[in-house]
Amino acid sequence: MTAVTPPAPVVGRFAPSPTGRMHAGNVFAALAAWLVAKSQGGKVVLRIEDLDAERSKPAYIDAVQRDFEALGLTWDEGPYFQHSRTEAYRAAFDELAARGLVYPCFCTRADLHAASAPHRGEKPVYPGTCRGLSAAERASRALERTPAQRLRVPHEEVAFTDQVQGPYAQNLVQDCGDFLVRRSDGAFAYQLAVVVDDAEQGVSSVVRGVDLLCSTPQQIHLQSLLGLPHPDYAHVPLLVAERDRRLSKRDRDAALDALLARFKTPAAVIGRIAGLTGLAPTCDPATPEELLGTFDLAALPTAFPDLVQVRWE
Ligand code: GLU
Repeated sequence: MTAVTPPAPVVGRFAPSPTGRMHAGNVFAALAAWLVAKSQGGKVVLRIEDLDAERSKPAYIDAVQRDFEALGLTWDEGPYFQHSRTEAYRAAFDELAARGLVYPCFCTRADLHAASAPHRGEKPVYPGTCRGLSAAERASRALERTPAQRLRVPHEEVAFTDQVQGPYAQNLVQDCGDFLVRRSDGAFAYQLAVVVDDAEQGVSSVVRGVDLLCSTPQQIHLQSLLGLPHPDYAHVPLLVAERDRRLSKRDRDAALDALLARFKTPAAVIGRIAGLTGLAPTCDPATPEELLGTFDLAALPTAFPDLVQVRWE
């Protein structure tokens, strides 16, 4: 008899940046990630994305964990911290550099702003200003300024099917450009860190806000270069504070504290968010566990066209 290998369990993740308290949008994305993993019998990893040492605050690291716990958004592994993973990021960076795929970029913020028009309203495309510098030019520029490091991308299309947004593709040169893998202050860039972490932590299901959809081809490209597996991706719509403005940590009335004060219980907050966003058929109070019964990822809209639906006031 041939042995049948059981399918690997789904591993989802929460990857909060501890730069403020959670708001309704963060709760929605985390709830969706939890439901996707748990509805497939999988587990959830908690990773604190404190790569940006200046903006990450210890108080928020505690707060985000308490908030997840209060809401019933349990995790099975972690927390893992990006601040303790520098050696892993360095190893990946060194591998790319050894293959000649990385070059120093001396552009200032102002240079970049002047040189690159935002493309498709999504993100600025780096025009390759420092790509062709000679070794002598690099050496002399380095005397004045510590460079950032960029990955040289090929003229290739990266295409994938998002579980919520459907088919999505970018030409790496035209839609993205050579992108940062290390900042000029020495910190490894988000794109590199997230790819190394997702692989190391066995993440097979990435569920996050649609603002990161345009980063996904970069991450898939890095996974291919580093020989890492490609997770499934589901990019959920963003909640809006008012017409055309996404919710941010400055929107006090959508902050978790304010929602708990208004709706009284964690289950009421979860139920309300789930009902408004299409994660559940009604806004009745519910725990994440209770939502598993009716959860259907395929029923999630790709955007929230009726903005009134997701008003918090
Ligand atoms: N840390 C990011 C955030 O809180 C999420 C990054 C990701 O999911 O890849 O917005």
